[in-house]
This record gives sequence, C-alpha cells and structure tokens, in this order.
Amino acid sequence: MAKITKLDDIVSLCKRRGFIFQSSEIYGGLASCYDYGPLGVELKNNVKKAWWKSVVQMRDDVVGLDCSILMHPMVWKSSGHADKFADLIAECKKCNTRTRVDHLQAAAEDKKTDKEIELTKQLLDSMGGSSAEQTSRRQSDIGGAIDFIRQHAEHVSIDAAQAKPHDLSNKICPNCGAVGAFTDPMPFNLMFETQMGANVDDSMTMYLRPETAQGIFANFRNVLDTARVKIPFGIAQIGKSFRNEVTTKAFIFRTREFEQAELEFFCEPGTDDKWFEHWKEARFNWYLNLGLKKENLRFREHDPDELAHYAKGCVDVEYKFPFGSGDWQELEGIANRTDFDLRQHQRGIRTLNKWYETNGDLAKIELSGEAEDYQSGPLSYFDDQQKKRYIPYVIEPSAGIDRSVLAFLVDAYDEEEVRGETRNLLRFHPTLAPIKVGIFPLVKKEGMPEIAVNIYNDLKKYFNCFYDEKGAVGRRYRRQDEAGTPFCITIDGQTLQDQTVTLRDRDSMDQIRISTDALKAHLRDKLDM
Ligand code: ATP
Repeated sequence: MAKITKLDDIVSLCKRRGFIFQSSEIYGGLASCYDYGPLGVELKNNVKKAWWKSVVQMRDDVVGLDCSILMHPMVWKSSGHADKFADLIAECKKCNTRTRVDHLQAAAEDKKTDKEIELTKQLLDSMGGSSAEQTSRRQSDIGGAIDFIRQHAEHVSIDAAQAKPHDLSNKICPNCGAVGAFTDPMPFNLMFETQMGANVDDSMTMYLRPETAQGIFANFRNVLDTARVKIPFGIAQIGKSFRNEVTTKAFIFRTREFEQAELEFFCEPGTDDKWFEHWKEARFNWYLNLGLKKENLRFREHDPDELAHYAKGCVDVEYKFPFGSGDWQELEGIANRTDFDLRQHQRGIRTLNKWYETNGDLAKIELSGEAEDYQSGPLSYFDDQQKKRYIPYVIEPSAGIDRSVLAFLVDAYDEEEVRGETRNLLRFHPTLAPIKVGIFPLVKKEGMPEIAVNIYNDLKKYFNCFYDEKGAVGRRYRRQDEAGTPFCITIDGQTLQDQTVTLRDRDSMDQIRISTDALKAHLRDKLDM
C-alpha cells in the first residue's frame, strides 16, 4: 500500500525544490493553473519522452503528429463537443457561485449516501489492517474519503445527467452555506471560447481544444496519403488541452490547462478486440516499467451504462493516490471508439455549407445524415490486399501527462530515518529523474574543483548533471536525494592519488569507488542511456 501522504507535503516539496509553482504567484496566483519550475520541467519532459519512446519511437506501426490548438469550429460540431461536452451545474442565488450538481451535498445531518458509505468502507477495508485502532481510524476516514472521491468524480454524460430528476431543495452551497437556494440545473460547456480575427465583422468564435484526439482524426487522410502507413497503424500526439472545469483542486490532478498524450490506433473492424487488449497491456506496463508500484495501479472497466453510446469498451488505468485515506483515480482512459469519429467527420464535411449559411452559428447547425456509401467516403481506407474499402475502428489510449507527473511524484516520495534525522527523497526511476548525476568536489581546494568540473563537462554531454561545491557534502547529498537524483559523484583526496571517485547510490546510500575512466560507461549502463 502507498504511504499515506498529505497532498500538502507534496505541494510544499514541489514549491521548495522548484518542481511546480502556482501560476502568476506574484499577483496572488491564478486558480488551477500551474507552472513547472527547473526540476519540474525536466521531470515532465522525461515523462513525455518516455511516452513518445514507447508509443512512437519503438514501434513500426505508429507515427507522430503535432496539431494546432485552434481548429475549425466544425471539428467540435462533428465530434460532439460543441453540443455535449458539458457538466450539469446549478448557481447559488445568494452568492452566484456555480457548482457541479453531482458535487452538491445535502444539508441533512448524514450527508453521505448509503451506497457511498458502503463502497468507501469496502475501499478502506481493502487497504488492510484489522486492529481496533486501525478500524476506528478507517471509520473516521470515511467522510474525508467520500469528499475526495466526490471532488474528483469524472464528468457525467450530460444526456444521462439531464434525464435524471434533480431535487436541489436540500442541497448546501459549498461557498456560502445557503440551503436550497439553487437555480435549476443547466448544462455548462467545458470548452474555452476565444475570438479569431482583428475586425469585429469577420471575427469568429473559436475553441481551445478540450482534447488532442480530434486533430488526429482531422489529419487521418493527410497521414494516410503521405506516410505510407497501412492498417493497422496509429497516430500519436502530445499537447496542451483546455477544459473550463467547474471543480478543480488537488493540485495538478484536475486543472483547466493540461497536457495529454493520445494515440488513435486504426484497425480493421473485427480485429479491434485484439488491439484493445494489446494497448491495455502495453499502457499498463508502461507505468509499471517506469517504477509505479504494482499495488498502486489497477484497471477499472467502465460499466455498460457509463460507456458513451458509440464506445464498445472502455477501461481506465487507475492509480491509488495516497491522499486522505488513499483513493483510486483515473490516470488514463483506453477506449474502443469503433468507427464513430471518422464517420462523424465525414458527416461534418457534408455539413460545411450550413456553416457558411448560418454564419458559423454552431447551435443552428444540424449535422447532415450519413451518405449511403459512407464506407467509401473521404475518410475511408482502401485495403489493397483484400481489395475492400472500409472505415477503420479506433482504439484510443488517452493519458494525462500532468496526472502522470503527480502519480510519479507521490509514488517516488519517501521519508526515512537516517541516524536520527529524517531523509526526504524521491525514488524516481532513472529515466524520469530530472537530474541524473550530482558532481561534487569534497572541498574547494587542492585541485578538486578542477577535476570535478572536467568530469561534469564530460558527463553533461550524455545526461543532465548538476555541479555543486557549496556546503557540507552530506547536505549536498540530501539536496540531491530530495530532487530524486539517482547518483552522486564526489571527488576527494584519494582521487588525487589514484584517479578514483566516490559514486553514491540515492536509494541504498551505498558508496563505491570507481575509476574516472570507467565512470561514463558505468553510469550509461546504470541509467540505461
Ligand atoms: P476526468 O473524468 O477525470 O475529468 P475524463 O474521463 O474526462 O477525465 P479524458 O477525456 O478521458 O478524461 O482524458 C484523458 C486523460 O486526460 C485523463 O485520463 C486525465 O489523465 C487527463 N485529464 C482530463 N481532464 C483533465 C484535467 N482537467 N486536468 C488534468 N488532466 C486531465
């Protein structure tokens, strides 16, 4: 089980060591937006590089893409985002705060539903421990765990949410505490709007993309015509997405601007189940191979009534975030999206004249029906061996980079007692560690700094290194432990005699002596670089 960590400890470590800062902090901060500092940007880049290596570089059947964030508004009409990408919200008439209806709590004394209590009990029980003290602590954790789960609950299908009656007369406003002072529930679209064009007359409403996937579908034909790909093949992309989330919180877990890594893998209908299983396994192993502990990772199959109407299957890779009482949350969704998206875009292309007729008013546009011969439409694929044309099915593994960064951070976070002192460290997998090697002269004299700088200049050609000559060497080790640096090299008196240095391992704190000539090969082997 993950060590129960307070989110505050992670937030404070991130700020103290320059991993992650609140955006616009000097102006009081901007809610739910974060900046990655010097260590954070290296960590995040390493997560992206590891994803790209595994999903694109190491495969013969996946190519990459980098689409623009702003796209033709019809893309969002065809994809369904313009009409359906919404949360159901209600506004408090007293303080005008809007809250997701599924996050509202009742004013009654017991605000948790029986089903929530039962499910949460099961969750806490599965975390083990049976002593009276553990049982009583778990009981008192139930309320907090339910709150955490509610705050992080996934978006609900707007159709399903609207179909359900909502009695808000007993619900409390989380901002001002007023009871039953809500407006009727209304859908709130999560897409950010902006204007394109300098002139009032010809400016047009655009949307910041809420996912990167649609840029891939819109470029399916371009890639097919230029990249000599044959089905089965995938198109992968990493990039920023934006959602005007009603509820944020929990640091970088749910933010309004975030980065996604998405793959659309196109395959022949009938082979989709096999590829779904393939990508489930590949993606799960990616997290494990980068060091996430197996007991903190699981699949959660979506119930049939949770599935989007076009999806044949969907599974989330979940991580047990060790906040509050420990809670499973989505890191990545893997879906069998069938041929829905390409067929929708074929309908969109047929609807383009309505876009001009309505002056681009998406609300007034109804997508044209599907052509009878849609299987041979502009986004179809011709299989020259089988001599047949069809719209491919799509398997979509869709991961959140920032959420993965948070999971890698909390999974790596550790505290231990060393000779009466607390050692804080991040046990990052070497691939993810922002700095791979710290290089220190023991003292600032006797030629040690010169030797250390030479080693630093040589090694930094291969991996991120950090040179530090200030303060006691023990403190320098601790600073690198906290940054998650796997190895430190110290140049000392013996180096001057026999050209060996001390190489210290972050996790075991073991030190070996190694000749300066053998350093590079040894580290490249250990770091797998
Ligand atoms: P959630 O319900 O948790 O918002 P979702 O099911 O809407 O997620 P998808 O649309 O499947 O998410 O997006 C794929 C991935 O993108 C998610 O698994 C998550 O890692 C990431 N993601 C989605 N929304 C956010 C957000 N607001 N902040 C950070 N990451 C996000």
